[in-house]
Amino acid sequence: MAQIRIENIRKDFGSFTAVQSSTFTIEDGEFFMLLGPSGCGKTTTLRMMAGLELPTSGSIHIDGEEVAQKPASQRDIAFVFQMFALYPHMNVGRNISYPLLSQGMPKAEAKARVLEVAKILGIENILDRPVGGLSGGDRQRVALGRAIVRRPKAFFMDEPLGALDAEFREHMAEELRALHDRIGATTVYVTHDQLEAMQMGDKIVVMNHGVVEQFGVPQDIYDWPATMFVADFIGSPPMGFLRFQGLVGNGADRVRLGDCDIPVPVQREGAEGALVLGIRPEHVHLDDAAPYRAEVLAAEYLGTTQIVTLRTAHGLIKARLPSSTPVRAGEQIGLRFDPRKITLFRADKGRALR
Ligand code: ATP
Repeated sequence: MAQIRIENIRKDFGSFTAVQSSTFTIEDGEFFMLLGPSGCGKTTTLRMMAGLELPTSGSIHIDGEEVAQKPASQRDIAFVFQMFALYPHMNVGRNISYPLLSQGMPKAEAKARVLEVAKILGIENILDRPVGGLSGGDRQRVALGRAIVRRPKAFFMDEPLGALDAEFREHMAEELRALHDRIGATTVYVTHDQLEAMQMGDKIVVMNHGVVEQFGVPQDIYDWPATMFVADFIGSPPMGFLRFQGLVGNGADRVRLGDCDIPVPVQREGAEGALVLGIRPEHVHLDDAAPYRAEVLAAEYLGTTQIVTLRTAHGLIKARLPSSTPVRAGEQIGLRFDPRKITLFRADKGRALR
């Protein structure tokens, strides 16, 4: 098991900066997600932790030891690139034992270890089978077996489920998380899928354009996004934004949108000018008596709930309502926002006011 501390890590490729001065800590035994859109620098960050890429500057400590300039082979980690990368000419048992035998472990000891890992993964009855004929799920289990058999301090996985169809992907995600909970080794997992990150991660780093936008537990990132990018990237549908000119702070517990006073959490930080009120769809409520008005544009039926798109004087937002709530396109309705669930942002910097 391992604690991994990343401090001011930066990576330039020529004049292009792929990762800018990132700092965060992965605690021992955590399932840690590096999340962000394509090209945001998450793979580069993972490769620097793994020793496959040298940082331009900054430090990486694994269990207190500085490893930034050490090669991957000296870091005692396992990189699961792509779960399907097996040796096709070997059977299941040999695929799993390969890393041990190539390190010079005696055959009997390796065999015992392979059996132990196969039991954890539920594949002890297929150890003699050629990998060629295995189902996708079993191939994934074998690839995982090969990674965990060495008992590395940490596992690094780069979009390991990326190639799978949705249903199977969800199943393997659950299995992977359960496996982690059984063996408890620190796992760093790269994904661009916010749902996968929210469901599987103990903690998440959200990256954008090489910058760490936010770092924390899934619930905090969802409830208290630090930036408009995070608010928009996490959640489906994402947080809605109402843009207005105004003033917050100084102990005030409301903001003025048009001619309506909207209750908001009391801000410690004051700001004036172009502001944004962020609210998630499940915290937008219909209330005929509410003075803040909107026009219903469309409703998307989702079974027990519906997503209703609303036009306000300050932009479009969405509400998640019970399907039983009657709404008609074109209708004018009153909106009430749960004040405890509002996040205010400065429009220019896109940063949340706290
Ligand atoms: P993806 O999900 O598409 O892999 P990512 O978030 O993992 O995206 P990275 O692979 O870390 O992103 O790449 C970040 C940026 O750095 C990208 O713009 C990429 O083109 C660039 N980059 C990555 N490796 C190199 C390299 N060896 N040389 C030059 N540029 C690179």
